[in-house]
Amino acid sequence: MLQVLLSAFPVTVLIAGTALLVDWFAGRRWALTTAIVLLLVWVMQQLLHRERLIRWLNDPERAVPTASGRWDILFSTLYRRDKANRARLQTLQEDLQRMREASQAMPDGTVILATDNSIEWCNHTASRHLGLNPQTDIGMPIANLVRHPEFVRYLLSGEYNQPVSVRMSSQPPLTLQMQIVRFAENRRLLLTRDISQEERLDAVRRDFVANVSHEMKTPLTVVAGFIETLLDALPELGTETALQYLQLANHQATRMRQLVDDLLMLASLESTSTTPHDEQVDVTMLLNSVAEEIRLLSGGNHEIILEVQAGSALIGNHRELHSAFMNLASNAVRYTPKGGHIKLTWQDDVAGGQYCVEDDGIGIAPEHIPRLTERFYRVDRGRSRDTGGTGLGLAIVKHVLERHHATLSVTSTPGNGSCFCVNFPRTQLAAQKMLIANDEFSNA
Ligand code: ADP
Repeated sequence: MLQVLLSAFPVTVLIAGTALLVDWFAGRRWALTTAIVLLLVWVMQQLLHRERLIRWLNDPERAVPTASGRWDILFSTLYRRDKANRARLQTLQEDLQRMREASQAMPDGTVILATDNSIEWCNHTASRHLGLNPQTDIGMPIANLVRHPEFVRYLLSGEYNQPVSVRMSSQPPLTLQMQIVRFAENRRLLLTRDISQEERLDAVRRDFVANVSHEMKTPLTVVAGFIETLLDALPELGTETALQYLQLANHQATRMRQLVDDLLMLASLESTSTTPHDEQVDVTMLLNSVAEEIRLLSGGNHEIILEVQAGSALIGNHRELHSAFMNLASNAVRYTPKGGHIKLTWQDDVAGGQYCVEDDGIGIAPEHIPRLTERFYRVDRGRSRDTGGTGLGLAIVKHVLERHHATLSVTSTPGNGSCFCVNFPRTQLAAQKMLIANDEFSNA
């Protein structure tokens, strides 16, 4: 009250002083009139400023009004506070924007859940993982949108110590690891991670172990069976039968050794990601030795032709290239009946080099061709085993070629034969390498 009186004091003094002066010069009536007019002007001014203040409070986006006297102090204070608030708001908005951008950039999905399990916010990854629409699904209960029973059970259980894995029926199907984390007061964060790739790799690993065990079990059982028979009944068997049993056991042991050799080769190819590129492999020598080896394997049952463009050298690993070239050539022998023809060719030009193995053997139906380089994939399991196959030859070829930046193409007609061709880029040719280096040198 005292403050109100004090604030009105200067105006009261001004009006009273002016009234006294007018009274002195013009009499009491004029003094009273002047006092009333001044009072009215003052009241009008107060009402005007009050009106401006109300208008500004209703619409703070407008500029803060200006005035004089006590109103000026009030408006200036309001202006300063408004400016400070706007700066704080700007900082908060920038922080929020940064947080949102960081959440959007995360490789994992994030959903903020309200206490009633409705969606408050989600990032792009979460909307992709869970099939949510950020425009229409905000505010919707998540259990109505993600209806997978495993997830709904997890959400409602309140036990969030462990994540849960859920296989989504999306296209393509995804396996998600979902984890709910509590934060603030009764709020929850749902984190989603795509573990489809890990799951696929796990399945491949499991299949591989099962396949290896299966491949080993058969020859091992045969070898153990023969040894047992020999131990139990060697005197009664006679030398000829015993020798026959030992030869069969030896054949199975050779199969196992071949399988282990192929497995070790695959493991060594997979454990090192780069091929030594300082070795030059003479293609003519390499193919002569491959042809020699398959002639032995064929035992004169096939006509084997070798056509090599002389003077070529490949950059890469001799052992790996020999293994890949030999696998393709020995397959041609194994899958071509007696009397068939096998042709090994090598040619290169400025575009690159090409090694082809052509046979007129049993051929391959088109549906099998895309899967031939999978480990343990065989078109005819019986024929592969009978001819000493491990089912790993073309998987090894694929790895070796990848490491030498080469590609494999297969054309085949069942009953007519097959042609396996390996294409090397010119950067893998030793002579071409020198030409490229010379080109670069002369251009520099
Ligand atoms: P395998 O040890 O069984 O020969 P590979 O990985 O070398 O294993 O070959 C995979 C499969 O591809 C073989 O089982 C065979 O069915 C088929 N295949 C490979 N080369 C030929 C070929 N030249 N002619 C016919 N079939 C072939």
